[in-house]
Amino acid sequence: MLSVKKLSIETTLVHADRKLNKPQFGAVHEATNNSVLFEFGDVQDLVDVFQGKQAGHVYSRSSSSSAVSLQTILNELEGGVGAVCFATGMAAISSTFLSLLRAGDHIIVSQYLFGNTRSYMETLTHLGIEVSFVDVTNTQKVAALINKNTKMVFCESIANPVTQVADLKGIGDVCEAHNILFALDNTMTPSVLLDGKSVKASLLITSLTKYIAGHGNVLGGVTIDTGMFDWTQYANISDKYKVADIKQWGLTQIKKRGLRDMGATLAPASASQVSVGLETLTMRMHKTCENALSLAKYLAQHSCVSSVNYPGLEAHPQHQRASELFGKRFGGVLSFTLKQDIDTHTFLNTLELVISATHLGDTRTLALPVASTIFFENGPEERAKMGIQDSLV
Ligand SMILES: *Cc1c(COP(=O)(O)O)cnc(C)c1O
Repeated sequence: MLSVKKLSIETTLVHADRKLNKPQFGAVHEATNNSVLFEFGDVQDLVDVFQGKQAGHVYSRSSSSSAVSLQTILNELEGGVGAVCFATGMAAISSTFLSLLRAGDHIIVSQYLFGNTRSYMETLTHLGIEVSFVDVTNTQKVAALINKNTKMVFCESIANPVTQVADLKGIGDVCEAHNILFALDNTMTPSVLLDGKSVKASLLITSLTKYIAGHGNVLGGVTIDTGMFDWTQYANISDKYKVADIKQWGLTQIKKRGLRDMGATLAPASASQVSVGLETLTMRMHKTCENALSLAKYLAQHSCVSSVNYPGLEAHPQHQRASELFGKRFGGVLSFTLKQDIDTHTFLNTLELVISATHLGDTRTLALPVASTIFFENGPEERAKMGIQDSLV
């Protein structure tokens, strides 16, 4: 078995598919297998796979060899107890939450969430889940909101677009002390930058669309169980999903409800494409961070720019914390505002290589006005709480 502890991440990544999944014919990539259904010579085997007594696939909404192979690699990278892939990052978030939460539960979430995750919280509220928004750079504020119904704390490692860095270590400790799930969206800092277990995250939820796949040509998401949460303490696990291995309780419920029943499955072809992108994650990520830091420094001293948000700048309020958490690399996202007399649209239209587009973690540099696009629906009041100015690029 390959182990990230023995080999560098770079080496692990390029050999993981071959070593962990042992594709047929000595192939170095797991094949894309598009079969929806699977034949069994003996019907007892079919029954056993259905009942979870035997490994295998019965219907590709629940599992396919391509998705399972990608899950194996992603889980190995994070040193978790298992992973489940979804069609998109939003599918991973929404399916995981809907699998684990019930009406009457309370969750504490970052007030600096990715725009679509933020608006998804409204859906949860309508279903009877109480959602408290909080400044996750401050653990005391998080701890103060915990009550007897609190099931989960959810935040992102680095917030997009203002780049606030959550107090991940503090939140991990508080969640551990109160037996609360700590779900972390680590899209901005995949395993190359952040060891999710070192901050005691229970679940790592990642948009594979961004840095992991990396080329702007495929969507995907994943939820990884780090194995750090004690599921016997979680009231919402159905008796049906209390399997022999206690570590698998949470993921079993997420797979059955979130994937089988809700159905936002990662297509086999997408899984294969994501795993090819993943092979060069380290190199892309390091270069991305290097470029972003240069650009942030350049913008910070430019006469047309009035402010820059990037955790790699010493002036950033959580610069020290980010240095400790992410090994002196600060991610590929930065934001800035231009001096008042400069029109943002004119500025963006003038750029030649920087593409006006919504995405991140691409091989190309992208830029867009955020208030009028991703965060338009949130309205001026919510945007102000997130620190998003109208002119922010
Ligand atoms: C993009 C993004 C998502 C959603 O991922 P999709 O794959 O686009 O659905 C979730 N969280 C963060 C932090 C993101 O940047």
